Amino acid sequence: DHGLDLAAIRAQFPILSEVIHGKRLAYLDNGATTQKPEAVLRAMDRYYRTSNSNVHRAVHELASRATSQYEGARDRIAAFFGTAREQLVFTRGTTEAINLVARSFLQPRLRAGDEILLTGMEHHSNIVPWQLVAAATGARVVAADVLDDGRLDLDDWRAKLGPKTRMIAMVHVSNTLGTVNPVEIVIEAAHAAGVPVLIDGAQAIAHLPVDFEALGADFYCVSAHKAFGPTGFGTLLARREHLEAMPPWHGGGDMIETVSFEGSTWNEIPYKFEAGTPDMAGAIGFATALDWIADIGLAEIAAHEHRLVLSAHDRLAAIPGLRIIGEAPGKAGIISFTMDCAHASDIGSILDMEGVAVRTGHHCTMPLMARFGVPATARASLAVYNDDEDIEQLATALHKVASLFV
Ligand code: PMP
Repeated sequence: DHGLDLAAIRAQFPILSEVIHGKRLAYLDNGATTQKPEAVLRAMDRYYRTSNSNVHRAVHELASRATSQYEGARDRIAAFFGTAREQLVFTRGTTEAINLVARSFLQPRLRAGDEILLTGMEHHSNIVPWQLVAAATGARVVAADVLDDGRLDLDDWRAKLGPKTRMIAMVHVSNTLGTVNPVEIVIEAAHAAGVPVLIDGAQAIAHLPVDFEALGADFYCVSAHKAFGPTGFGTLLARREHLEAMPPWHGGGDMIETVSFEGSTWNEIPYKFEAGTPDMAGAIGFATALDWIADIGLAEIAAHEHRLVLSAHDRLAAIPGLRIIGEAPGKAGIISFTMDCAHASDIGSILDMEGVAVRTGHHCTMPLMARFGVPATARASLAVYNDDEDIEQLATALHKVASLFV
């Protein structure tokens, strides 16, 4: 299978050998969060055992270990995304990264009547922050349509990109449909119109190569936990000139240069945006996860997941009353579906009894659910450690659902 040693990869994830309701675990909820390999678990454990201290301040040995490992992690993460360390702001995840851009970059530039152009397939975290700054300024959120097969309607998007557009935000890979958006085309068109672009890369970075410099986006937001790293840690990748111009948003320790009661001055980028004691183990865990991905190779990962998603589509299409939502060509390893016979939550519960973990609900994409006329879907989402047996177990369990509810 494209040179991937799946048995060896799976063996690095201790949780995959958990027995669930007496069954083998088929973990197909990677869109929600991925599992963590030994390398990440060990790196975080080792940090707390041997180097834990606070960063950037004290002169003692542990503080210098903590600082060099934490800042070393920033270098490793920057290298993975092909960019410079000062263009990385550490956050709690994609959600916080988007809120930072909305508040600090966009809100000061917005006037009543301005528009923020999104798409109909955004996660709530790439909708609500924009709505908050729109409400504060009298600006408007506009969303481009999604086609029946789950692709972005690029003609509609181009038509909605106009003289009032101040910001464009778009998901790279849809967490609900698996659609991979044509972000290169979008960024080029946006920049030709003089509009900055934010890409929500939460579902992309564990599945396809992302080079921030080559892509040319103004902002790119990621979460470590969707890419085999820890929860509650992420990164805003941002162009240096934007970060220089943006005011800080959280005040506190570490983000300042000087403080007096007459006023304070700010630290250099990216520290200006990183108030308070950071998540050192989180940064180290994320860097280790990205090194782990790079060792396997994103081209190999993408090829493996592509083959699995095609096979899953074939298997699921054969199940009576099952409707797959989202069949964009080249889609990532995410399959949303409904069944005539059962509600999504019932599908999820029966699958759970068979050891198959999927997500059910609106997947934080309520406007997209409305677009497809469904309240909820069941969603299977893949990662590199998924294998043919997982797909087999999913298909068998879904046949069981179909037979239980006839
Ligand atoms: N955008 C997309 C496309 C996502 O799938 C998610 C996570 N479900 C997020 C944003 C938010 O990520 P986080 O909760 O880690 O901030």
